[in-house]
Amino acid sequence: MSKTGISAAALLAPRAMDLGPAERIDTGAVHWRLARDAQDVAWLVLDRAGESANTLSEAVMAELDMLLGRIEAMKPKGLVIRSAKKSGFIAGADIRDFQGIADSAEVEARMTQAHAVIDRLAALPMPTLAVVHGHCLGGGLELALACRYRIAIDGASFGFPEVLLGLHPGLGGTFRLPALIDPLEAMTMMLTGKTAHTKRAKALGLVDAVIEERHVQNAVAAAMSGKLRKPRGNWKSGLLGFSPARGLAARRMRAETEKRVSEAHYPAPYRLIDLWEEHGGDAKAMQKAEIRSFAALLAGVTAQNLIRVFFLREGLKAQGKGDSDIAHVHVIGAGTMGGDIAAWCAARGLKVTLTDIDAKAIARAVGRASSFFDKRLYTGIDRRDAFDRLGADFSGDGAGRADLVIEAVAENADIKRTVYKAVAPRMKEGALLATNTSSIPLEQLRRSVPFPERLFGLHFFNPVTRMELVEVVGHDKAAERALQRARAFCGAIDRLPVPVRSAPGFLVNRVLTPYLMEALVMLDEGIDKETIDKAAETFGMPMGPIELADRVGLDICLEVARTLKDGLKTPMPDVPAWLETMVSEGRTGRKAGKGLYDYDAAGNPKKKTDTPPPHASLSDRLILPLINACVACLREGIVADETTLDAAVIFGTGFAPFRGGPLHYARSRGIDDLIAELERLREKFGDRFAPDAGWNGLGKTG
Ligand code: NAD
Repeated sequence: MSKTGISAAALLAPRAMDLGPAERIDTGAVHWRLARDAQDVAWLVLDRAGESANTLSEAVMAELDMLLGRIEAMKPKGLVIRSAKKSGFIAGADIRDFQGIADSAEVEARMTQAHAVIDRLAALPMPTLAVVHGHCLGGGLELALACRYRIAIDGASFGFPEVLLGLHPGLGGTFRLPALIDPLEAMTMMLTGKTAHTKRAKALGLVDAVIEERHVQNAVAAAMSGKLRKPRGNWKSGLLGFSPARGLAARRMRAETEKRVSEAHYPAPYRLIDLWEEHGGDAKAMQKAEIRSFAALLAGVTAQNLIRVFFLREGLKAQGKGDSDIAHVHVIGAGTMGGDIAAWCAARGLKVTLTDIDAKAIARAVGRASSFFDKRLYTGIDRRDAFDRLGADFSGDGAGRADLVIEAVAENADIKRTVYKAVAPRMKEGALLATNTSSIPLEQLRRSVPFPERLFGLHFFNPVTRMELVEVVGHDKAAERALQRARAFCGAIDRLPVPVRSAPGFLVNRVLTPYLMEALVMLDEGIDKETIDKAAETFGMPMGPIELADRVGLDICLEVARTLKDGLKTPMPDVPAWLETMVSEGRTGRKAGKGLYDYDAAGNPKKKTDTPPPHASLSDRLILPLINACVACLREGIVADETTLDAAVIFGTGFAPFRGGPLHYARSRGIDDLIAELERLREKFGDRFAPDAGWNGLGKTG
């Protein structure tokens, strides 16, 4: 105890949230609580029953409507809206309500009702104030925008992520945000789905003040007495009220959007630009149009598939729950993968030691980590702490203290076995050993480890900082507890674990390789590489197979292709001799500045722009071998089920998310149709297109 009688722990503990008076008015509501303080200010606090985070379900909105009626009758001096959840204000609409919707008229009717509630809040005659901590997203931000003032507790973040679900804001955001802040900034926020953290939100004018939790009472008093900034329109809103100016800006936005996504695959940003161009500045017209457009998008295939992907992601995340008991990670091999795995783990709060036989590789990796921390961590303290947690380990002693050792040396079974023989005796009791191998079956590696039950694969993808998936590879001698800790480790560092069975290439490389190899055969036939890439992009892949092979590294592709060809019975094209020559000459792709493409200084491939557009059949020739391999993986039990497979292939390969996953795509297009197409390709190009026996087990189109 200190002299003041307050314990140090109490002083250091995070301050409890100020949620207004404890005494509540009896309203019958289960999600909201209403109270009135001594200054005659009403406090409306959302604490959605049975959930750890607040979302806006229909029941939450119906109660809000009822409570706004009470507040209209109470006529308090002002109204404060807050969340009682530690996690934040409101994370958006309840996405579960968006699943399986096919009727846009029904959505229109529901959205019209919800708009009436938000309009009722906006029309209250007294000052209204949203006090926001944590996430304030989508519908949550729309609710906050309907208040006269918004105050952010330091650390709060604001955004409209709807576009990532194939939607645009649907609860008034499309007209309230551009009326409040620079309309061009507002459109950028809605078009990109990017979140604005506290400082940026203040600079944009999205919030009126940023405060610490302990100043909530003062901020409320200031708002109620009109001392906060007077609400004002943005001067650009006036200028962009003229349709020629808006037309010009809209054309630019369309051009920018086209660089990222096509309208056929992702209509939402295009519809948002249309809305703003046609109705910008006219709130009433925009509101009607927003509801109609939102409903049409929500009932459309893209949004429904992206919502499916959202839940696929949640499913993988759930695999990563639990305690890993891992605080210290030791990484062996400071190359492309090991260096980035080490940096990522340090950024996520783990202690890391990084070693390599080449001291220069360690130095380079630490340098790369430092620029990564600078770019991706928000505060100087976070950057310093992450840097402190990452230790360059020239002696390799970290292995003796680590709870998990991750090996990321060259893709060669002999080298890996030598590394295990040296490191295993140094590891502490109960520590785990993981390999980042891309394709070597664990059964080939486990014999050189004295504790095979604690060995498994943790297959990260390149680039580690962007690819969320990690394959957790088991084998016949792995202990379930070790695999569970491995999955929980992925969860702890914000990655998505997918359990896979050990087999050549595991899941992701197994399905990618036939696709990449087919692209190489096409090259051999004289088809332009740009045309091949375009065929895959037209299907919706984020980048074509030729560019991807260069990105992965042709040396790695070659090793994986060899492993699969040797280890699998499935027919595959021969590895072209020229690929081996290229690798031996060091033309290994993007990392070498030259590969199948040449690269500029910024690492972009130099592509010809005058190549012929791909024939429609070309994308089937690339994509169907990938889907066929997915079916084989299911049949062989490499992955548990169709849903997990769809999730892993989307997050591991970038497989066109708006198509909902390879198996989902196969089912929507029609399994019979896909089998018939594979048979046609088989006749023309050979047995590598033979439909896998697993298709029979899938049943007909679901
Ligand atoms: P890399 O060549 O960039 O790095 C390998 C590092 O290991 C080098 O710095 C090398 O000096 C070091 N090394 C070699 N032998 C060693 C030893 N005995 N002890 C300590 N260090 C040693 O390779 P990479 O691309 O980072 O690949 C590493 C592993 O990750 C491979 O198994 C690869 O298949 C896998 N992987 C690579 C990718 C990718 O896209 N590059 C993706 C997923 C998995």
